[in-house]
Amino acid sequence: MSATAPIRLLIHGASGRMGRALLRLAADNARFEVVAAATRSGGDVDGTHALAAGRIASAPGFDVLVDFSLPAAFDAALELCLQRGGALVSGTTGLSDAQRTAMDAAAKSIPVVWSANFSLGVAVLNELVRRAASALPGWDCDIVETHHKDKLDAPSGTALSLGATIEAVRGSKPHYESLRVGDVVGEHLVQFTGIGERLELIHRATDRDIFARGALEAAACVNGKPPARYRLADLLLDPSR
Ligand code: NAD
Repeated sequence: MSATAPIRLLIHGASGRMGRALLRLAADNARFEVVAAATRSGGDVDGTHALAAGRIASAPGFDVLVDFSLPAAFDAALELCLQRGGALVSGTTGLSDAQRTAMDAAAKSIPVVWSANFSLGVAVLNELVRRAASALPGWDCDIVETHHKDKLDAPSGTALSLGATIEAVRGSKPHYESLRVGDVVGEHLVQFTGIGERLELIHRATDRDIFARGALEAAACVNGKPPARYRLADLLLDPSR
C-alpha cells in the first residue's frame, strides 16, 4: 500500500516573520512538501530557494499556495492559483475591497481560505463575541488591538473581522483603538460596557507559530476540496476533523 503523497505547498512571502515560521513548521511535518517559495526579491531563505516577485509564473506544480505577504503582492498570488487550479490559503491583511471581491470571484474556480487570524483561540473568540453582541445590545462596544511596531495596517485585520461580526449582529460598528508598541505578536480586547459592569474578552498571541500551524491545518483541510470560499472557523472547529 503506498503512503499518501505529501501536499505540495508554495509559500508566498517566505522571507517574512510568518513565511519563515511556515517554512520551518512545514519542513517538520511529513504531510507537507514545500515545492516553491516566493519573496519580493528572491534568493535564499533559511536554505530554501525563493523566486522573486515577477518570476512566480515559473514555479513548479503545487496543490496549495500559502500566502502571508503584503497587499501589493496578493494579486499575483491569486492569479497564479487561478492559472494552475491550486487552492489559496491567505492571511495577508490590509486587502482592498477590489482584492476581496476578486478573491470571492476566484472561489468559483478554486478552494479559497482567507482569514485575518489563523489561531484557534481567535476562532473561538469570534464565536464568544457574536454571543455577547447579541445578548448585550445596548452596551458600548470597543475593540483595542496591540501589535509590534512594524505592523503596517491599522486597525488590524483581526479587529476588523471581530468588528464585522459585531456589526452583523447589532447593525453598528464598534469603536477601534490601535497600539503599535515593542514586539507584541498580537493582542485583541473586545469589551462590552454597560451601566455598573463591563465584560472583557481578550486573546493574547505570544508566538506567531500559532498562525502558521492554523494556516497549514487549513491547507490540509482544503486540499482537493471543491471550489468555494471556506470559513476558517468551520475548518478548525469541525469536530470531525
Ligand atoms: P513581513 O513584512 O515580515 O513579510 C512580508 C513578506 O512578503 C516578505 O517575505 C516579503 O519578501 C514578501 N513580499 C513583499 N512584497 C512581495 C511581492 N511583491 N511578491 C512576493 N512577496 C512579497 O510580514 P509578516 O509579519 O510575515 O506578515 C505578512 C502578512 O501576514 C501581513 O499582511 C500580516 O498582517 C499578516 N499576518 C496575518 C496573520 C493571520 O493569522 N492571518 C498573522 C500574522 C500576520
